Formats: sequence, structure tokens, C-alpha cells
Amino acid sequence: MATKILLDKINIPGIKSYDVYRQNGGYASVEKAIKSMTPDEITEEVKASGLRGRGGAGFPVGLKWSFIDKKSGKPRHLVCNADESEPGTFKDRYLMEHIPHLLIEGMITSSYALGANLSYIYIRGEYMWVFKILERAIKEAYAAGWLGKNILGSDYSLDLHVHCGAGAYICGEETALIESLEGKRGNPRIKPPFPAVSGLWSNPTVVNNVESIANVPWIVNNSGEAYSKIGLGRSAGTKLISASGHIRKPGVYEIEMGITVHEFINSDEYCGGMMDDRPIKALIPGGSSVPILPEHLIYKTANGEDRLMTYESLSDGGFETGSMLGSGGFIVYNDTACIVRNTWNFARFYAHESCGQCSPCREGTGWLEKILHRIETGNGTMEDIDLLWNIQSNIEGNTICPLGDAAAWPVAAAIRHFREEFEYHVLYPEKIKNRDHYVNEP
Ligand code: NAD
Ligand code: SF4
Repeated sequence: MATKILLDKINIPGIKSYDVYRQNGGYASVEKAIKSMTPDEITEEVKASGLRGRGGAGFPVGLKWSFIDKKSGKPRHLVCNADESEPGTFKDRYLMEHIPHLLIEGMITSSYALGANLSYIYIRGEYMWVFKILERAIKEAYAAGWLGKNILGSDYSLDLHVHCGAGAYICGEETALIESLEGKRGNPRIKPPFPAVSGLWSNPTVVNNVESIANVPWIVNNSGEAYSKIGLGRSAGTKLISASGHIRKPGVYEIEMGITVHEFINSDEYCGGMMDDRPIKALIPGGSSVPILPEHLIYKTANGEDRLMTYESLSDGGFETGSMLGSGGFIVYNDTACIVRNTWNFARFYAHESCGQCSPCREGTGWLEKILHRIETGNGTMEDIDLLWNIQSNIEGNTICPLGDAAAWPVAAAIRHFREEFEYHVLYPEKIKNRDHYVNEP
């Protein structure tokens, strides 16, 4: 049976409630931390665990915590990024919906480590019912004395609020999230300064993803060293994967990092194989922002090694032959999928969600969307394919925040690996117009 850190208690009836959560060992990490550990000792444990940010970037969590400015004397904050909006990603929702107290416990233990007395969970507006679940869990935690003044009779006090976004993808970018939390329009800030130095109300702030924070109780209870032994090398621990697309069993799975992509897609424990036994055509392993992999690069890397569910293996070969683990939004396509249509769909999303601050992103995402739509509807030219390439390469790396890159990379990868499909749309417009999508035949 695979190791479970986050979902091990998920099937206990009533685990959503405070009483059942507590009866099953909940809040032990807060007790241990406040009664017997200093904040710096907790940070050291998290560093030793090798836990990397689970929002998508994979930045080491303990290292981020150690950047927080403790000398300025300013108040410090922990902000949980629950603005999960990456297409294909729904793992944080699952965790918050089913075991909300795990996140609250992680928030308290982590806030204690950072010396934060006022912390926030910023949740996307579309997750209104989850917002209510969290509100209730926070109320229960206050009533039981885990939040508020002098927790467990110590000097440590913490107030925790859950704040609802208003439906903008860009507010998942940490500095846009902070702007939004301050009551302003969610425009990303230029970094540096990083939030650890100047974040919420210019105070030192750590922004961590839901899944990252939910790992902290286990690390405090069992030690960073124990955590580092789970998983594979620099991809320590387990990872929640939200799996969707043409598979038999879409859903959220907790995997131990290091299993093969083949096992994840084909074993009954996880995705259960391809729907209707159709052949696999493509895979997006980390949410819509990461490059798509063609069939021959899904189960094996370019040098013939097994492709593993790790940060390193999924990005093996860079963007020429690899992709990214990203947020763990795993989208599987069979041979009926139209890559052009799919790429256009994503481009439409990014054009809609661009905040408009920088021109390469504001204008470029709109151009990508329009040209892709032209090609998808059988009205494109061969020059349009080159124009797409040109536009995406001028967006990448030239914008304030990663949304620009996120719009560019899927287009680049689709053209790189599926150019013949774009050309087919140009060469056979009548066929394209007469049916819904491309089905792999000239
Ligand atoms: P990033 O690499 O810029 O930063 C990662 C984190 O490390 C940030 O918190 C940043 O503040 C911190 N950091 C990096 N360098 C630092 C330094 N020198 N000093 C202090 N702190 C430092 O990436 P990002 O913009 O936070 O995230 C991009 C990722 O978000 C993408 O990979 C994408 O997969 C993912 N994403 C996820 C979702 C989702 O719904 N989960 C949505 C959109 C994008
Ligand atoms: Fe806004 Fe796009 Fe610039 Fe990000 S890259 S700041 S979303 S315009």
C-alpha cells in the first residue's frame, strides 16, 4: 500500500468535524510545536524534510521560511494560497473539502514557526462552499482554544481569517493575491522584493500553497528526516495529483513521488488505464501552463529512461523533450483529442485572465487566441503557424509575472510536437469545418 501523508484519514466518517479530527490525532503538531519546540527548530525540520512548494514552482518551503525578515520588528504573516485556478488542478479543493482541519492545523503550526500572529487563507471565489467549510472549521478551532490569545497557555497568539477572492486567475499569483487581500485590484507586483521581505501591508509575508501547509503537521510529528526518506531524491514526500481527461478513474490521488508515469496512468490504484482502451496521444502533467508531452515522451524520457512522477524526471530534457510536475494537474488525452482545439481553448483562457499590465502579455495573449481560433476553424495559413511561434517566443520571459510564460509555453510545445496537426488544419479546411475535431488521419 502506498504511503499516505495527507489522505490517510480521509475515509474516516466525520473527519471533516473538529471532534472526529481531534479524536484521530488532530492538532498534535500544534501541541508538540508550542510546548516543546522553538520556531527556528520547526523551520529546521521543514528544511530537513526537503518539502518543496506544491503550488507549482517547487521552491523549497523551509528555505522560503528562512528568508522571512525577523529582524525588522514588523508584524509577520502567513498567507495560504487557496486560489487554486490552474486548469486541470483541483487537489487543494479536495483536501479542504474533506479534511479542512488539516489545513487549519498546518496554518497554526506554520504561523508559530514564522512568528506570525495574523494569518490568512485566500480562497478562490468559485469555491464558495469550501469557503464555508473553512469558516466553520476555523470557528471550531477558536472554540477549542487552538486559535486566539495565548494558545495552550503560551505567549503565542494567532488570529486566522479566510478571505474569498472574486474569480480572477491572476490572484493566484502571490503578489496579486497580496494586492487583492489589501483590497486593491489584483495586479502582480514586480519581484524583488519578494513577499518574505515586503509582502502584505509591506510586512514580511510567506505565501504557501494549501498542500504545502498541510504537510507541515506530519513533518513536525514525525521529523523532517522521516519525511525526506519518502519519495525520491530531491522530490521528497508524497504529491497530490488531480487526474482528468481520457482515463477510467479521474480523481485526486496521493502518490509517493518516484512511481512511474506508466503505473500512475495504468494501475487500478490510480487512473485505471485509458478510457475505452483507446491509445494515449498526449499528456499535460502539471496543469495547463506546462508543456504538453507527445505519446513517445510520456512513459519514457528522451534518453529511454522510465518517466517518473518527480520534479526532475518530468522536466528531463527541458522543454524540448520534457515538461513540469507543476501543480500536479494531470490531463490525459487519447487519440480523439484535437491538439489545436485544446491549445486554442487554453489560449482563450489566458487572454481572458491576463491582468493587462504588460503589453507582451496583454496584446500577445489576445493575438495567440485569435490566430489559434483562425487555424482551429479552418481559416488559417501556414504563415499563421510561424506567427504563433514568433508571438509566443516574444512573450516568454518578457513579462512581470509567470502568466505570460504560462500562455506561451503550451503554444510552443503544441507546435513543437504536433506541428503536422496545425498544418492539417491549414491544408484541409473543409474537413475541419465539417467535423468537430481532428482525429489523427490526413
Ligand atoms: P516563483 O518560482 O517565482 O516563486 C516560487 C516561490 O518562491 C514564491 O513564493 C517566491 O516568492 C519564492 N522565491 C523565489 N525566489 C526567491 C528569493 N530569491 N527570495 C525569496 N523568495 C523567493 O514561482 P511563482 O510565481 O510563485 O509560481 C509559478 C508557478 O505557479 C508555476 O510553476 C505554475 O505551475 C504555478 N501555478 C499554479 C496554479 C495553481 O492553481 N496551483 C495556478 C497558476 C500557476
Ligand atoms: Fe498581468 Fe500578464 Fe503582465 Fe502577469 S504577465 S502582470 S498577467 S499582463
